[in-house]
Amino acid sequence: MPGLMERYAERLPFAADDPVVTLGEGSTPLVHAPHLSEMVGAEVHLKLEGLNPTGSFKDRGMTCAVSAAVREGAKAVICASTGNTAASAAAYSAKAGLTGAVIVPEGKIATGKLAQALMHGAKVIALRGNFDEALRLVRELCDKHPIALVNSVNEFRLQGQKTAAFEVLEDLGGELDALCIPVGNAGNVTAYAKGFTEAGHLPRLFGFQAAGAAPLVNGAVVEKPETVASAIRIGNPARWEEAMAAFTSSRGMVRAVTDDEILAAYRLLAGREGVFCEPASAASVAGLLKYGADGAERVACVLTGHGLKDPQTALEQAGAVVPCEPDLAAVEEAVLGG
Ligand SMILES: *Cc1c(COP(=O)(O)O)cnc(C)c1O
Repeated sequence: MPGLMERYAERLPFAADDPVVTLGEGSTPLVHAPHLSEMVGAEVHLKLEGLNPTGSFKDRGMTCAVSAAVREGAKAVICASTGNTAASAAAYSAKAGLTGAVIVPEGKIATGKLAQALMHGAKVIALRGNFDEALRLVRELCDKHPIALVNSVNEFRLQGQKTAAFEVLEDLGGELDALCIPVGNAGNVTAYAKGFTEAGHLPRLFGFQAAGAAPLVNGAVVEKPETVASAIRIGNPARWEEAMAAFTSSRGMVRAVTDDEILAAYRLLAGREGVFCEPASAASVAGLLKYGADGAERVACVLTGHGLKDPQTALEQAGAVVPCEPDLAAVEEAVLGG
């Protein structure tokens, strides 16, 4: 499978001889979710963005952002991150032979994401502060030094991420009534709006924030955002105005879901649909279950990242393992017993 810069070359701001840094991102599966469809009373599909090379949709934007950085002659890239941007930036910098640095909120990043960033050789800086402070600091740093900033304030990120909208429409023959999506910095919903608009079909955009980190819902910055969904633990979204414009123009909404609702959807997706996503991703499905499809007949939920990113939350939420002696009777009891 070619990467998305090749697949959608004519719809991205690159010339044929520009450098392309790719790990084969994009072209992720859209799977029908029969159990959810029945619960909601609509045809529900899941866009499995956790199947991108580093396990989240961030790779769609990163292939473009790092390719553009190489084109511009950058020697280093940097980002502030709740985790997945760090993992993705680290991988694409490694592939491009650039120095990567990532600034993450100390103690608030899921284990898998930290392991990825470190393995790919990025300099991982744990800030004694939250994501919003980290983003403010990297922006200042990039004003002073020739380092490429690959956060979603980078236009190339949105360019790459808009391709997910093309894929969803292609897979559904152009018929989609609503898209449910978790919202943190609001870059991804802005990118989907852009992609759908370019493709000439904008479905209703239903965005969901975690109740403890819901600035767009409250209409006010959240100073100390808190949620189990660490990827959307953001109190001051970088794409605030654009996201609100996208909700309005698509006749959509941005609403909140509690951590309990997120975790219930997280378990339901794994247990009933066979899809293991990370907690932030489950916010899209939690919102659909909580508020309903609002008349939409065909709905797609974006599952933004893979469940393996955050093994700790999974083990806290899942059932216990069954200890067993090494003899047949004990195994029979363990397997077949109540
Ligand atoms: C980054 C991220 C989000 C939020 O996307 P925004 O563009 O910041 O709104 C949601 N889920 C996961 C898994 C992410 O990594």
